[in-house]
Amino acid sequence: MRVAITGAAGFLGSHLTDRFLADGHQVVGLDNFLTGQAANVAHLAADANFQLVDQDVSDPFTVAGPLDGVLHFASPASPPDYQRFPLETLRVGSVGTSNCIELARAKGARFFLASTSEVYGDPTVHPQPESYWGYVSSVGERSMYDEAKRFAEATTMAYHRSCGVDTRIVRIFNTYGPRMRPRDGRVVSNFVVQALRGEPLTVYGHGQQTRSFCYVSDLVEGIYRLFHSDRIEPTNVGNPGEFTMLELAALVLELTGSGSILEHRPMPPDDPKQRQPDITIAKAVLHWEPQVPLRDGLGRTIDYFRTVVADGC
Ligand code: UDP
Repeated sequence: MRVAITGAAGFLGSHLTDRFLADGHQVVGLDNFLTGQAANVAHLAADANFQLVDQDVSDPFTVAGPLDGVLHFASPASPPDYQRFPLETLRVGSVGTSNCIELARAKGARFFLASTSEVYGDPTVHPQPESYWGYVSSVGERSMYDEAKRFAEATTMAYHRSCGVDTRIVRIFNTYGPRMRPRDGRVVSNFVVQALRGEPLTVYGHGQQTRSFCYVSDLVEGIYRLFHSDRIEPTNVGNPGEFTMLELAALVLELTGSGSILEHRPMPPDDPKQRQPDITIAKAVLHWEPQVPLRDGLGRTIDYFRTVVADGC
């Protein structure tokens, strides 16, 4: 197969690129490096099956040659990033998604959308099944991301229903692992880098809010299986293991052996209080469930960040 992956220099896009290449496929990676990092794909520079194109997919573009798949992973994804780039985030979810689906349509390729658990907003149903419609503010501090992804899902289904485009949608829950940007503002990268540098761990609010963290290799496996499956409807992929931010902070301190203290900061507006994927469908349809417990995945992530911090991030 030959596939195009947008956001290929990002955290998830680069791991997904590795996965397709490992199975002998060809990948055309597109990235505008707004939040992606060239270093994430530097190891592929000499790989004849990989081509990297500097492209903002919100602008008109095409890819020369045949394609079997277009996987749309381009978007700022951490709250500080999408709040810093609100218009870019709305554009890549709306215009960017249409551009990518039109590319897939022109090539007769399968389109795959990276959506998010943020479509559930600050959920009133727990855990969140795909059938839950969500509780989202259309004007709040996260609306540029949540509504962009909801619009992207609607666009994908419209192209599927009205134009017969072959589509897939994954709803990705919190994911962590090597290649996260050390200062991307997400909780795992923040806590690990702070612990390694001996800085206070910044716990927002009382730290009782929960998230469910999936190690990146598990997530990529779920995505790969969904891409190859027949399932059109959105599918949750994530790890149901649910932790408070205080529990996460304690585990990071234990695994790093850091003496950092906790420093409570104000809770950001519209921060979801709880989040946990219901993965009943992924288990049944994809025969997939996560294999890497948080303790193990954090250990691997800490090893990665040790080298990054040693390089002076
Ligand atoms: N968080 C925190 N300290 C940080 C960064 C984040 O306590 O330094 C909290 C944040 O308020 C949220 C949770 O950790 O409740 C997860 O935040 P993240 O940005 O990683 O992901 P998202 O909110 O998009 O799930």
